[in-house]
Amino acid sequence: MKVFKFGGASVKDAAGVRNVAKVLSRYPDDDLLIVVSAMGKTTNALEEVVWANADGRDTQEPVHQLRARHAQVLAEVAPGDTGAVDALEASFRELQRSLAQRSSGDVDQDYDQVVALGEVWSTLIVAAHLRHAGLGCAWADARTVVRTDDLYRSARVDWSESARAAAAVLRPLLGAKPARIVTQGFIGRTANGETTTLGREGSDFSAAIFAYLLDAESVTIWKDVPGMFNADPKRFPDTKLLSHISYREAIELSYFGASVIHPRTLQPLQQKRIPLYVRSFIDPDAPGST
Ligand code: ASP
Ligand code: MG
Repeated sequence: MKVFKFGGASVKDAAGVRNVAKVLSRYPDDDLLIVVSAMGKTTNALEEVVWANADGRDTQEPVHQLRARHAQVLAEVAPGDTGAVDALEASFRELQRSLAQRSSGDVDQDYDQVVALGEVWSTLIVAAHLRHAGLGCAWADARTVVRTDDLYRSARVDWSESARAAAAVLRPLLGAKPARIVTQGFIGRTANGETTTLGREGSDFSAAIFAYLLDAESVTIWKDVPGMFNADPKRFPDTKLLSHISYREAIELSYFGASVIHPRTLQPLQQKRIPLYVRSFIDPDAPGST
């Protein structure tokens, strides 16, 4: 089983979502767990909604825009999928309920309940499109698998509870031939059922969590860059694409070099010797970095 991760830039619009299906169609026989981030700048927009709500400012207009945008992309990539439309609508009602509820008293806890929904929406849309494109898939709520503590906005994973949940929730879905599971990056849940997030840009880490829990054969992070470089190519001339580097070098680069992968991603992979590939969703023939 392979874990694939697609970030917000890869699913920012209908063309992006279609491109994800195109990349996946290159792996017709592989069992895949596909981790997806929120579309484009959705997480930033949701953060603004949280701050507005906390300040007692209007949230209807930005929420309306988010709903219109997601509904439009869904209609483009999965026309006629009323089940997906209903699921998206239900999730927006959940957002409205969260916003209307009295604050939990902890702004970080309120934040996670709202901001996590971006990943729910993007995965509903991606899963609907994959089915539309003939790539049958299951949709899994990552919150039923990734168990965390209650350190909201940078929650820490409870590995043994998550392993138990992965066996119960994901293993049965892996029986499909091929298995194709679409799930969310970035989000988890406490033992009390409160939604948590793993920290901004945490979807790479989520991919590593799922790979660790399921003993995946590899993780591939599909990016808009061709791989990992020895320095940020936007800031330095003469940077080199690194075709093969050690976990240790990759960890150092993720802290100090180009922000290609989230720093917490490498450690669970290193523990289980699971290889990490960084490849381009724009040029999937390119070899990328290992
Ligand atoms: N959507 C979240 C963020 O923008 C997580 C991620 O993209 O990795 O921070
Ligand atoms: Mg992102």
